[in-house]
Amino acid sequence: MKRLAMTAIGGGALAFGLLTVAGGVAAVDMLTVPTPPSVQTERGGAHPYSFISTIPAQGGGEAPTRWIACDGLTLLVARNGMPANGKEAVRQAAAEISELTGVPVTVEYADTVPAAAAENTIFLQWKAMPSKTNKLEGCDDAETIACTETVTAGFGSGQHIYGANITVYDDKLDSGVLHSTLLHELGHAFGLNHVDSHSELMYPEIAGQAHLGKGDRDALRIAGQFTCPRR
Ligand SMILES: [Zn+2]
Repeated sequence: MKRLAMTAIGGGALAFGLLTVAGGVAAVDMLTVPTPPSVQTERGGAHPYSFISTIPAQGGGEAPTRWIACDGLTLLVARNGMPANGKEAVRQAAAEISELTGVPVTVEYADTVPAAAAENTIFLQWKAMPSKTNKLEGCDDAETIACTETVTAGFGSGQHIYGANITVYDDKLDSGVLHSTLLHELGHAFGLNHVDSHSELMYPEIAGQAHLGKGDRDALRIAGQFTCPRR
């Protein structure tokens, strides 16, 4: 068994940064994870996609930093502060993300979510602070609708996503915007970065896009292609 240390890229100032855990967390025992195969990690044109970070891949090239969620992921949703239309929006978004990534996402509820990250778990919490803009960036920005912090863990090229924390700040979103917002933030939780095309949900603003774009969908499929350790 190898010792695993929490590491991070970026910081809290980023909307969707891979977050440093202050002082680290208790070391976790972890199976050795094979290096994933190389894949395209950015694409431009009409349907762009991009990943927040990449790691050197088997046989050269790069692979996106991904979950290694061989038993699926848990989406743990706080009941506190959840808007009336929250439960249905969460159910729909989790189902869509599960289908595209091929990673089963099980939705669970608790009064509040823990402060520290948990392995293969995405936390979703709500803070009533209605936004004045349509922006989807900046965890420290009072005008954002929502943001995601992603915690990575690993050693060498085994770097992968360990946990994620989504905060939705606006409790007055209509169901369509809330659905789009949750898909955008779950995209970050799966390692996707912003793109500059407003036909994609990974555009850093709600700009009328109601559904995942082709680039979003392609990136989510890639995000689900992780290699499981042998057991
Ligand atoms: Zn974003």
